[in-house]
Amino acid sequence: MLRREVILGGALTILWGAANCACHAQTVAKRRPGCTVDADEAPRFFERANSEILTATGTEPVVPTSGNRDFDYALAHTLSRMTDVFEVLPGFGYYDDGNSPNAYATPAVRMRSADGTVLFGRSLLRATLAERDHPDVAVSAVCAHEYAHILQYKKGLIGRLLAGQSTVKRVELHADYLAGFFAGARKLQKPEYPAAVYATKAHSIGDYMFTDRNHHGTPDERAAAIVAGFNAAYRDRNTFAQGIETGITYVQSSR
Ligand SMILES: [Zn+2]
Repeated sequence: MLRREVILGGALTILWGAANCACHAQTVAKRRPGCTVDADEAPRFFERANSEILTATGTEPVVPTSGNRDFDYALAHTLSRMTDVFEVLPGFGYYDDGNSPNAYATPAVRMRSADGTVLFGRSLLRATLAERDHPDVAVSAVCAHEYAHILQYKKGLIGRLLAGQSTVKRVELHADYLAGFFAGARKLQKPEYPAAVYATKAHSIGDYMFTDRNHHGTPDERAAAIVAGFNAAYRDRNTFAQGIETGITYVQSSR
């Protein structure tokens, strides 16, 4: 475990009172999710993209259920809360992500809901549900990140976040920040909510592909963005509209 991870883990423990909190040693997955798919830019972007990194095309067949009715029911409740906080209503479903665990958000309307579509890979779902620490909450953390992308599309924030950037990192860290905001909002409602799982999950999927267009942020940067968003909601009691802006300021101050 890196020293910085120990420090971050300690900070999370203090902030969130998590006994078994983030930043135990994680294996950083070799394949990186490319989790936003812009309906207009997708073909051009995917032509350039490394197929090992970006495998989604945005047109994968939608699978409507996880195969577990109880899980679907519980997640539907969580997604409803996300709709309340983010004020977006995307379609949600699963898709076959093969050997490249992934989830993504696209503004393309694939289902009846107006605000685009979030698709969660079945392979990613299996892997996430196999995690030892609140796996259902880890699924929620991924969903909150994708809902944040839907919000970015809806509010026209993508161009603003990408301006002058050679990678998608600021878009991704802003989505992490808003996922952290959602975790903070949940913790205000439910003090025992294991919000630290969000940072653990984000940390586990950070990457070090600094020069790759698809660089999402390092593990530490991703976990720190979650913590910052959490604090905006839980400690600073920002409204969500304020959180969107404080999140932009936050990522613009990142390198
Ligand atoms: Zn993303």
